[in-house]
Amino acid sequence: MGLTPMMQQYLQIKQNCKDCILFFRLGDFYEMFFEDAKIVSKELDLTLTGRDCGLEERAPMCGVPFHSSETYISKLIEKGYKVAICEQVEDPSEAKGIVRREIVKIITPGTLMEGNLLEDDRNNYISCVNYLSTGFSLSICDVSTGDFYVTSTNSNFYTLIDELSKYNPSEILIIKNDNANMLLNKLKEKFNTLIEFVDEDISNEFNTHFGNDTIKLNDIEISSAATLFKYLMETQKTSLGNINNLIRYNIDNYMIIDSNTRRNLELTETIINKSKKGSLFWVLDKTQTSMGARNLRRWIEAPLINKYEIENRLEAVEELINNIYQLDNLRESLKKIYDMERLISKIVYGSANARDLISLKNSIYELPHIKDILSNFNSKLLSDIYNSFDTLDDIYDLIDKSIDDNPPVSIKDGNIIKKGFNSEVDKYRVASIEGKNWIANLEQKEKELTGIKSLKVGYNKVFGYYIEVTKANLSNIPEDRYIRKQTLANAERFITPELKEIENTILNAEDNLLKLEYELFVEIRKKVADEVYRIQKVAKQLSILDTLQSFAKVSLENNYCKPKINQNGIIDIKEGRHPVIEKMIEESFVPNDCYLDNSENLILLITGPNMAGKSTFMRQVALICLMAQIGCFVPAKDANISIVDKIFTRIGASDDISSGKSTFMVEMSEVSYILKNATEKSLLIFDEVGRGTSTFDGLSIAWSVVEYIANKIKAKTLFATHYHELTELENTYHCIKNYSIEVKEFNDSIIFLHKIKRGKVDQSYGIEVAKLAGLPSEVIEKAKEILQSLEGNKESELKSKKATKNIKIDNSIREVAIDYNNEINLFNYKENEIINEISNLDILNMTPMQAFNYVYSLVNRVKKIRS
Ligand code: ADP
Repeated sequence: MGLTPMMQQYLQIKQNCKDCILFFRLGDFYEMFFEDAKIVSKELDLTLTGRDCGLEERAPMCGVPFHSSETYISKLIEKGYKVAICEQVEDPSEAKGIVRREIVKIITPGTLMEGNLLEDDRNNYISCVNYLSTGFSLSICDVSTGDFYVTSTNSNFYTLIDELSKYNPSEILIIKNDNANMLLNKLKEKFNTLIEFVDEDISNEFNTHFGNDTIKLNDIEISSAATLFKYLMETQKTSLGNINNLIRYNIDNYMIIDSNTRRNLELTETIINKSKKGSLFWVLDKTQTSMGARNLRRWIEAPLINKYEIENRLEAVEELINNIYQLDNLRESLKKIYDMERLISKIVYGSANARDLISLKNSIYELPHIKDILSNFNSKLLSDIYNSFDTLDDIYDLIDKSIDDNPPVSIKDGNIIKKGFNSEVDKYRVASIEGKNWIANLEQKEKELTGIKSLKVGYNKVFGYYIEVTKANLSNIPEDRYIRKQTLANAERFITPELKEIENTILNAEDNLLKLEYELFVEIRKKVADEVYRIQKVAKQLSILDTLQSFAKVSLENNYCKPKINQNGIIDIKEGRHPVIEKMIEESFVPNDCYLDNSENLILLITGPNMAGKSTFMRQVALICLMAQIGCFVPAKDANISIVDKIFTRIGASDDISSGKSTFMVEMSEVSYILKNATEKSLLIFDEVGRGTSTFDGLSIAWSVVEYIANKIKAKTLFATHYHELTELENTYHCIKNYSIEVKEFNDSIIFLHKIKRGKVDQSYGIEVAKLAGLPSEVIEKAKEILQSLEGNKESELKSKKATKNIKIDNSIREVAIDYNNEINLFNYKENEIINEISNLDILNMTPMQAFNYVYSLVNRVKKIRS
């Protein structure tokens, strides 16, 4: 016994897609066999059956219905599989022997064109790396929008990680070479996506496709770009007509933000639950289109370092802010625009339906309004867009005159082509309508002619139209005209020659109509596809416009100011705020100044208890610089920002257990990376260096890190520390200044003022913070005893007095403190039941934010009780 012909065909096809799950089309199902069937039945919870394959044992099999396959495919893609779709490519009724089948498409996580896995506000990237000992090249593409980027550098592995984390690709291809294995392992530690090896393929197709654009690429860039292109051709099996714009860029032309910093600053998602809410992107996103949202994300991921380019964006934003009326008009128009980037890709790939064309038309309808609005502006960016803005009138006219305004989803069921566009279509429609009218009147006419009141005209798929007469009335039928067709239990069905003729006309007309409508639709879609360059250019301009208006809107709403941009090393922020935290706690956010320069204010050493606001302050400085460099106004009263080439942050303890590194090891690797890569134009944020080891070790490391920055790197640095000993450095280095965050001691407790001041504190208030956090009073009392015995009673007394003296409170702070004092006076821990609630608090499971909010709510509750 040998394999059945179908199984032979299956195995032959499977040979060409060993790394994919093969969806093998059998009638109305996609079937999977052997190992694929076992995997899919497990992953998707499907029943594993078997099919006779000609061998003794049946082949394991499972299947999904063709019409609902998308959901199943999405689930597999989400789990990191690749799916090869194998279709019947000839009509089974015409096939001699077994139906011919071919793989028509390979769906992979990084090459999705449509479906629920594509997020509107996020590009879906695939990337290809060629990593050599001398450097690497990286190519990145979003097939659904047609964006294609290429870069290369002689930097090391860390730069690659940073660059990849900018794109966060869904799939990474590694070109096979001596470094490939090492790279695979390292990338797997960092990225939870599909990572595969590919053979280098410098095929001609790439050169032919991009023509002259490839001249700007060096050899290593060609290698990753051509290999990626080849992979896309193999998976998409189309000419990739939507990928037209090859953008080569230098990594160094943008602010370098390493992957930890992206994470720490919560640029596009929060650290804890990876949500957009709570990120900078969330605050800044007032875009009206998906294209704008994606562009905004890209801008946040890649801040500029060129003064001229930054100022161009800022000027455009300012002009929009100064013209609120036109800004609102622009927002109204943009709101009506669909995702033209992804629409045109679908149109080019031939997967767009008539509704997609109508969405494109409705979007184009807004373009003349937008051009009108743009005519009011003079800033370089906006007037450049105006001058080259194509309103695509011809494409609008084409769709408008040809496609019905409310077409069905399917492109094979007709009702797509508008009346008056094509005389043949109109003719068939008239024929079909007239025929149907004739039939509609037939029942009445025949009733009158025969006198049979119960006579009915009906239709079924097998016999077509018929006249039905009950057996009791058969004697009254005109035998010469009626031809018997079907006998039922108590009726007979007839046709007449005339009815048959009209029926033929209707059916032919409908058949021809469907065919013609489909052909015309495909032709129109092709004509629109031919204009892909023009449509993509407008889509890009719209995405920029939308991002700029989003900046303007958010700046107006949140009272941001236009930053001045300088290159003399001064970062001078007056009354700066944290863009995200101020949204969370609104009125109570305390603004702070920050002054950094290249000489006396290079390094700010910040002391203050936990929860005082050190991290918030440092992050807010970094975010304000970043916002200025993406061209957005900033949350401050006034800001003068020196362009920063890199931002580094070392914040919090993030255990990297999966990679076998301890918290302290991770911390030290991050510090080491920063010290090796920072320049004098960088901004460094250190939050508690040296915490993960013994006090003396930690202090020594923190101390020497600060000295190294002061002596060698000379980068502007915010350094928060609980090692008060470090504040001594101010006396040795003229570039170091001590700052502290104010707290007010009151009744054995402390109040956070969140105000940054010159000077140091030399008390940690650790026990007071622990008390506020709800640690049982027994623990607190014991801790105090231990502290006293550690420090010696007298000495600690002296120390606390000294600390209070060191906090210099100016008048404004004093007022705030008095307010708080009054509130706290009312707050009698022993009296009310709130105390119980506090002592039962599960503090370990709270974020600082939740803790803050809780404390804040407590204050309000107590106020209420006492008032
Ligand atoms: P630290 O780093 O000193 O431990 P954080 O910066 O984490 O303190 O701040 C602790 C909490 O205090 C934050 O959750 C935040 O809500 C609040 N906070 C910080 N800075 C301010 C401020 N300037 N105004 C109001 N609240 C603030």
